[in-house]
Amino acid sequence: MEFEACERSGEHTGDSAADLAMTYKIVEIFHSVQGEGVHAGVPHVFIRFGKCNLQCEWCDTDFETYDEMAAVEILAEVVKYPCNRIILTGGEPMLNDLWPLQRLFKARGYSLSCESNGTIEIPEGLLDWICISPKDQMYPGVKIRQTHGDELKCVYVGQNLELYDELKTGFTHHFLQPCYMEQESVEWNGRNFGLTEAVVKENPTWRLSLQTHKWMGVD
Ligand code: SF4
Repeated sequence: MEFEACERSGEHTGDSAADLAMTYKIVEIFHSVQGEGVHAGVPHVFIRFGKCNLQCEWCDTDFETYDEMAAVEILAEVVKYPCNRIILTGGEPMLNDLWPLQRLFKARGYSLSCESNGTIEIPEGLLDWICISPKDQMYPGVKIRQTHGDELKCVYVGQNLELYDELKTGFTHHFLQPCYMEQESVEWNGRNFGLTEAVVKENPTWRLSLQTHKWMGVD
């Protein structure tokens, strides 16, 4: 998608004042390369939202430390980067009303993806790419409400993969990802990698996804 610099620079006159003033809890905004899944290796601007409705033991995001930012401030930060692809991540981005941000970014030609835990249904037409990483292997009582999208990405912790038989039918790409914990040893993480690789070889309807950005030590 071609991307005109003037379109990014706030020269739009059609923005609504309410959209520009909408506030969000933002942990960080940064430009990096997607490390996992279908778009591994593709540069994106990441907008990381504060707060989450789950508490996974392997979570490495401090989603309780954030700033309140107006949408216009988020826009001003994002347009600094020469990149028209955005990933909304968290925390859990779908805890927010994302329509104001969506309108501002779509008016400027951005492509919007999200990474969500799937517990909140995503409004139709909000996003260009939906990646759901369900955590119901850890929370049997948690219902996955977003049952369709582009990418299903499951952290493998030894769960029975039949758990996803129904959910898989709603997604185009199916990934298994080793559980990676920064505080654990190379051996511990390597063992998880080996286990997940073996499971994918036995179950080739899944593809292996590696969090290459973590192995490289970048965001
Ligand atoms: S759903 Fe994601 S952000 Fe929330 S606690 Fe789990 S890993 Fe962390």
